[in-house]
Amino acid sequence: MFLGELQQPVNRLKGIGPNHHKSLSALGILTVGQLLSHFPLRYEDHQTKRTILQAAGTEAVNTVMTVVGRDSFYWKGKQTLKLFVEDGSARGTLLCYHRNFLGNKYPDGSQIFLHGHFQYKFGEWSCADFEFEPVSARPDVFGKLLPVYPLGGSLNQNVLRKAVDQALREYTPGLKEELPSSLRDRFSFPDRLSALKAVHIPRNPGEAAESRSYFIYEELFHLQLAVGRNALKERSVIRSGSSGINRELESALRDALPFKLTEDQDKVLDEIAADLETGRPMNRLIQGDVGSGKTLVAFIAALNVIRGGRQAALMAPTELLARQHAESAARLLEPLGLSIAYLSGNTQGEGRRHLLKQLKSGNVDFVIGTHALFSEDVEYRDLGLAVIDEQHRFGVAQRQALAEKGKCVDLLYMTATPIPRTMAMTAFGDLDVSSIKTMPAGRKVIETHLTREGNEEKVYNFVTGELNKGRQAYFVYPLIEQSEKIDLKDAENMYAHLQKVFPGRTLALIHSRIPDDEKKSRMEGFSRGDTDILVATSVVEVGVDVPNATIMVIEHAERFGLSALHQLRGRVGRSDLQSYAFLIYGSKLTDDGKQRLKIMMENSDGFVIAEEDLKLRGPGEIAGVRQSGYMKFRIADMIRDSDVLMQARSDVLAILEADPGLEQEDHRILDELWRAAPPFSETLIRTG
Ligand code: ADP
Ligand code: MG
Repeated sequence: MFLGELQQPVNRLKGIGPNHHKSLSALGILTVGQLLSHFPLRYEDHQTKRTILQAAGTEAVNTVMTVVGRDSFYWKGKQTLKLFVEDGSARGTLLCYHRNFLGNKYPDGSQIFLHGHFQYKFGEWSCADFEFEPVSARPDVFGKLLPVYPLGGSLNQNVLRKAVDQALREYTPGLKEELPSSLRDRFSFPDRLSALKAVHIPRNPGEAAESRSYFIYEELFHLQLAVGRNALKERSVIRSGSSGINRELESALRDALPFKLTEDQDKVLDEIAADLETGRPMNRLIQGDVGSGKTLVAFIAALNVIRGGRQAALMAPTELLARQHAESAARLLEPLGLSIAYLSGNTQGEGRRHLLKQLKSGNVDFVIGTHALFSEDVEYRDLGLAVIDEQHRFGVAQRQALAEKGKCVDLLYMTATPIPRTMAMTAFGDLDVSSIKTMPAGRKVIETHLTREGNEEKVYNFVTGELNKGRQAYFVYPLIEQSEKIDLKDAENMYAHLQKVFPGRTLALIHSRIPDDEKKSRMEGFSRGDTDILVATSVVEVGVDVPNATIMVIEHAERFGLSALHQLRGRVGRSDLQSYAFLIYGSKLTDDGKQRLKIMMENSDGFVIAEEDLKLRGPGEIAGVRQSGYMKFRIADMIRDSDVLMQARSDVLAILEADPGLEQEDHRILDELWRAAPPFSETLIRTG
């Protein structure tokens, strides 16, 4: 029996009534097997002896005490018991709130095991929050390491400890191994059942640590096995016929541009061309900071695929961005004879029917849009290349759905939010990564200023000066409209207010509740330069590209996350003009908010900012990764355990290389496990 095969409902265990049952389901624990895979976060040490004086108010006291007397005091109008205890080092007082019954249970002279925090207050050592047992209950065992589990709902540690204990005793005999014995020998891992017992109820800290490393390795090994097997499957996909790219029009496009591509753009295009020429589908991520020119690279790749006879699709996370991409693609590629279309959820009726027909017949070469691109009714004649812009905004399932619109679709992901290598490997399997590090020539570092709320006037004056030079500005707010709950400036009111501040200027308002057509025409007005100031929410966060806009004012900047701030700031500095960002912050700054603003002041490199972000927020928050369910590890942590991950990966690759079908005696157990109780869902991991 594999652990995952212990399918008995968890409410068969003693102590799990309807409430706890519900709370457990909310944690994803429905079966006994799942309960046993709910690993402790840490352990409480009831084992190391520590007297009141040794603990000295900083650590937990854990020792045998004798009850030496009693008294009472008034608390909230009720008589409340105090017990005096003595542990050989000092005398202490137990404040028995809600526990007057202890008085009868523990006459003077009783001995108890006690665990709790004592504070020195009013001339005595006192403790209100304590756990204890009579020594007579287990006279020879001093204390244990007690597991501390993640909780939820009605659950408490005692309920889980008891349920796990019972499950271990009654359900686990005959538990099967989940790693090949060659690996278990190599790392001297214990057998799985001992490890499982030790991880929940360790006899000592060494045993706890050892069993934890075993499960961490095992979890990462299985993850890598899933990823590795998928990669094998993908690699065995060979295109029928030629991948057929054709670069003959590329130089015409380059000639039409008012600038030269950067060295890194050239390099990435060559990497893409090489991918497209091999027999297996491309799976490549382009990482490049905001403004590094990823879109153009994607357009050129699309051009080459289309000239090779297939279609291309580009998916962006917002309509605003998708529309903008469609417009620049039309400008650049239509003169070369390509047919470009835009598709979003708002493309409806006759227009949509017509477009879908054109896509299916192959009359549209390049379609650009939102997640509507993979709607069920959308069919392609021959989708060759799928580009996913701002990929971290999409979940794995969405990216996959697009890829499934064609056969052997080449995939190109783009992001300005780099993800750590270990995570990329895990979330995407066999992913190739290209970086664009060189920025287009002539770009200047954006001057960033922090301004406290109340000093906006100075900023506004500066903006007037820039507008007078013919530049344009963004003003960004955390809210669309006024909120009763939070006292923050909002886009709608500020739109009215800024009209007074900048008389004679043209302003436009843009946020997610503005109808699509309106949004489009307002955005166009700003792009054309008819509008001087765009007042917005974070809808302009991704992708928006208006090179003549040189000022970004973000009010209540403390309300935005680091990656949003970086993306917003990246809306300016998109030409050789000097650009400015003003981060105006409110008076109620949290430490985190302060830290974020400081990081923004000191850094312009998106990679550095992403790393700082990771440190501040922890890996569980990485967008796209958490969304996809990847962070639901039972015990491993991709950042903390990245060395183990690399080890597991190389062990998996060695096994798959020697025995791709997992047919050897020692590997068969893995194949069996994946059939009977797969540790990871395969669909979560597949990307193409
Ligand atoms: P991102 O990588 O943030 O998606 P974009 O693709 O939006 O960046 O490009 C930012 C701006 O830089 C666009 O206006 C684009 O036309 C311009 N651009 C792209 N490549 C170059 C280059 N090699 N030289 C100068 N400008 C460029
Ligand atoms: Mg972009």
